Amino acid sequence: MIITYTGPMHSGKSEKLMECYDKIYNKKNILVFKPSIDVRDYGVIKCKGRRKKINAIVIDKFEEILDYVNEDITNIFIDEVQFMQGDIKVLLKLSIMDDIDIYCAGLNTTGEQEPFGVMPGVMAISDKVINVYSSCNRCGRKATYTYYEGVKGEILVGDKGYLSLCRKCLKKALINRGDNRLEIRR
Ligand SMILES: [Zn+2]
Repeated sequence: MIITYTGPMHSGKSEKLMECYDKIYNKKNILVFKPSIDVRDYGVIKCKGRRKKINAIVIDKFEEILDYVNEDITNIFIDEVQFMQGDIKVLLKLSIMDDIDIYCAGLNTTGEQEPFGVMPGVMAISDKVINVYSSCNRCGRKATYTYYEGVKGEILVGDKGYLSLCRKCLKKALINRGDNRLEIRR
């Protein structure tokens, strides 16, 4: 089984992951992974308002998970899965052939409104996708978009320059900026 939590920044994706982790009694049967590119919380999963951190094994590719799996493993957690590389078929193999429950959390789109890296594939092979929302940084409505207000091409890892926005405030931001990213040429 593969369950994926997705949504914009600050939507509590990691928190959802941690809730699932907490509910599992025997932690010895769990493997937790994070991509190495996420340097702000290197090797740990944490979230606001929660003191306890979860240590994660730092990897770059899905294939590396196979080095850690043994027959005792029943659950795998992957945070910031949008940054992972490699073949998502690894997750299908672990879920179907090895009967491991996999929980993923990742950004749905980039700050430029592009589907984020491996996320379309991860979401496609998930048994269940749960969309979580954050609060719009501008107006307080439900935010479903991550918006980068910096200069395109200068994408930074981390929170700097990134906003969670609702549809209305995203539209406003794009118009104010004269940004045509959602213009369709045909
Ligand atoms: Zn708003």
